[in-house]
Amino acid sequence: MTNRVKKPDWLKVSLASTGNFAEVKKIVQQHHLHTICTSGKCPNICDCWARGTATFMILGEICTRSCKFCNTLTGKPLPVDPNEPANVAESIRLMKLKHAVITSVDRDDLDDLGASHWAATITEIKKVNPGTTLETLIPDFQGKDELIDLVINARPEIISHNIETVKRLTPLVRSAARYDVSLHVLARIAQSGITAKSGLMVGLGETEAEVLETMDDLLKAGCTVLTIGQYLQPSRKNIPVTEYVIPEQFARYKTIGLEKGFRQVESAPLVRSSYHAENHL
Ligand code: SF4
Ligand code: SF4
Repeated sequence: MTNRVKKPDWLKVSLASTGNFAEVKKIVQQHHLHTICTSGKCPNICDCWARGTATFMILGEICTRSCKFCNTLTGKPLPVDPNEPANVAESIRLMKLKHAVITSVDRDDLDDLGASHWAATITEIKKVNPGTTLETLIPDFQGKDELIDLVINARPEIISHNIETVKRLTPLVRSAARYDVSLHVLARIAQSGITAKSGLMVGLGETEAEVLETMDDLLKAGCTVLTIGQYLQPSRKNIPVTEYVIPEQFARYKTIGLEKGFRQVESAPLVRSSYHAENHL
């Protein structure tokens, strides 16, 4: 018998598809774009797509890592699509996005771990959409400064890298990634003067003290924007939810985070790192 924690009412979302939802869906399908909104089974998809916001996933759909919380396919990735930077840039133009979020799978199979493709994508988006601001949610590039700098030098407005969970749980739920390496990535971004942002999931068995310790570590690294959301098990093969954190606790994290010194904290059950990302500029 499995012992699953019952999903509370505050996590039930309306699936009403209004506004731009159908139009955005059509463009994403027509251009064969990979969005984390769909592959990550994000609960905010109707809200975000209705507002004309989407997070694009570049470098394919297959990740070389296999984090226990993530529903992305794992295995040997396909070759990098050289047309992808132009394709994503054109889609952002068609979707008339004022702010776009780009993320990718981890490509530990590539010599530069995908960093030059990242830089080419940012450059092309900025060329085709000079009025669009950009957030790039990057992998850890194994903590290699010269690769992180390729993204920094393409000058997106925000660079985010998710710490995902507290230090103790990192080896249990993240594959290959290390807590200290993620802090290093964020410090490198902050030193460049670009806004450094990170995201944390709760409900994986962490304590409040551990969340507050993570906040302190992020602030020390120079991270100024933090998102905190409930972990939701995307499929049965993923790690189960330990706890559904109550909305009052999310509000408490927000208050404490702002008091500690973050410029912005989004903390609520359905918050995802790219949710309302346009407010983090
Ligand atoms: Fe997509 Fe991010 Fe919105 Fe989720 S929160 S639907 S991933 S843009
Ligand atoms: Fe998912 Fe982990 Fe790969 Fe990121 S690195 S796409 S979280 S499996």
